Amino acid sequence: MTFATHMEAALAEARTAGRRDEVPVGAVVVSPRGAVIAAAGNRTRELNDPTAHAEMLAIRAACAALGVERLVDHDLYVTLEPCPMCAAAISAARIRRLYYGAADPKSGGVAQGARVFSHPQCHHRPEVYDGIAAEEAEALLRGFFRYKRSEG
Ligand SMILES: [Zn+2]
Repeated sequence: MTFATHMEAALAEARTAGRRDEVPVGAVVVSPRGAVIAAAGNRTRELNDPTAHAEMLAIRAACAALGVERLVDHDLYVTLEPCPMCAAAISAARIRRLYYGAADPKSGGVAQGARVFSHPQCHHRPEVYDGIAAEEAEALLRGFFRYKRSEG
């Protein structure tokens, strides 16, 4: 089941990000044939870059690897609902399908908040599938923030 496998790869990136002391979110870009083109986790702290979200890094890496500016017919798997910035990048990259795990009531921009893909100015709307392995993604985030709080 490639579906589960690709989200598992995104979860692995999220776990790795957490070990780097980054918010544990991971993303992978998958080609129309089902090959993983790029995988990334959050690196905002490491890179001192507020735009270094997992989705942004995965999209950049996939475009660089393929030498293209758009990822037509490619799919993106990400463990957390994309924020408005990433949702806009997903649209600009012409991602075909977006699969995400946990909902993000605080910062999400797909099913809540800015609802980027529902906006009249959105030129490309991916097919969206939410709640994929959501419990695992949520558990990772909860564990991370619990640890952060206990750290003081
Ligand atoms: Zn984002």
